[in-house]
Amino acid sequence: MSYFIVNDKCNGCLSCVENCPANALSWQDDDGQRTLLHNMARCVRCANCWRICPQEAIEFQHFLENEWDEVVALRLVHCKICGEPIYTADLEKTLSENIGRELDRLCPKHKYADFAARQALMKPQKRG
Ligand code: SF4
Ligand code: SF4
Repeated sequence: MSYFIVNDKCNGCLSCVENCPANALSWQDDDGQRTLLHNMARCVRCANCWRICPQEAIEFQHFLENEWDEVVALRLVHCKICGEPIYTADLEKTLSENIGRELDRLCPKHKYADFAARQALMKPQKRG
């Protein structure tokens, strides 16, 4: 997604390109078309382009949006007792491959309860 957005008032004058202190703007003239280019890694969000644009064409508010962009969505695995999400199916696959066996689908709380129950079974029984 590009954060540098211009509206249809842009006439390609290149004032923004010439006045960008970070060389974050460029352009390409090709096949009878001028394309404005923006590089987010270089952009310091100084808003000079927005101030300088004679057409008021730059929609600078997109630079300032405090929103989270979705990067990836992965299927979750849930605890087999309480249903709490514990890890992703892809992480489960990686871990299973690394340790050579299937994982118990247990959240930390139920993993501890399971461990404690096993320990109790292993204790020698008192004779009355
Ligand atoms: S200064 Fe404004 S009108 Fe000129 S190229 Fe840049 S965005 Fe377009
Ligand atoms: S906000 Fe500043 S650094 Fe970014 S493109 Fe505009 S003038 Fe360049």
